Amino acid sequence: MTEPPLLIAASGISVSLQGRRILDGVDLKVHRGEIVTLIGPNGAGKSTLVRVVLGLLTPDQGQVALTANTRIGYMPQRLTIDPVLPLTVRRFLTLAQRSDETRLVEVLTEVGAQHLLDSPLQSLSGGETQRVLLARAMLRDPDLLILDEPVQGVDITGQEELYRLIGHIRKRHGCGILMISHDLHMVMSATDQVVCLNRHVCCSGHPDTVRADPSYIALFGNTPVLIPYSHHHDHDHDAHGNIIASSGEQPSDKRCEHG
Ligand code: ADP
Ligand code: MG
Repeated sequence: MTEPPLLIAASGISVSLQGRRILDGVDLKVHRGEIVTLIGPNGAGKSTLVRVVLGLLTPDQGQVALTANTRIGYMPQRLTIDPVLPLTVRRFLTLAQRSDETRLVEVLTEVGAQHLLDSPLQSLSGGETQRVLLARAMLRDPDLLILDEPVQGVDITGQEELYRLIGHIRKRHGCGILMISHDLHMVMSATDQVVCLNRHVCCSGHPDTVRADPSYIALFGNTPVLIPYSHHHDHDHDAHGNIIASSGEQPSDKRCEHG
């Protein structure tokens, strides 16, 4: 079987910032249709590597080869919005990319956030914010999606949902995905390749291989495989978070937190 086409290949990337070596000879490849997850402790250089791949930062050494016409959609780790400047989701998305109503609704529907189109950005929960950021990254119909810690600020159930959504997006669009996480356990089932970074590439490969690698264990400890906590509700929520009955049950006064 032939390998799917390469979208990006970074080789020998070294970066120093303020006299300190942040990245040292890092190689990274992403193919079409593949999910590659960068893991590593805080300060490992993950976001810096992404900035190099995006062309926002010029490395001291090394090259990034981007396949011609590769469109990139980027979801940053942090969003700084002015709390006194009212900004709806609609406005936020059109600022990023001029798009008609149909396209906005289309991307928001894909991430399950169509009901948020006219909500103020500041009013969104952690999980809703991440979905809107994901929608923004998808507006350009990218060949390569780069997601910097897409589940941060989201509770465990919401994290599982987001990883599932990311998997669906890959399947439906066939794009490549480069994702950052600092937790291998949660992304295990959602990723094809893992690159464990701590200034240099400590190890890389299939998640099972990486988990057994001594350099991964040295960084993260020899932790048992954690099955993400999952639970079932005796009720559902509508798009506004109101409790509705499911499977023939009456609404109860139970509450649960969704990210
Ligand atoms: P990660 O995303 O893996 O948590 P980062 O790539 O954000 O790590 O940062 C890696 C290291 O580089 C950190 O020690 C951080 O303090 C440092 N760093 C990041 N940006 C800058 C900068 N603009 N100037 C100086 N140091 C920086
Ligand atoms: Mg980071």
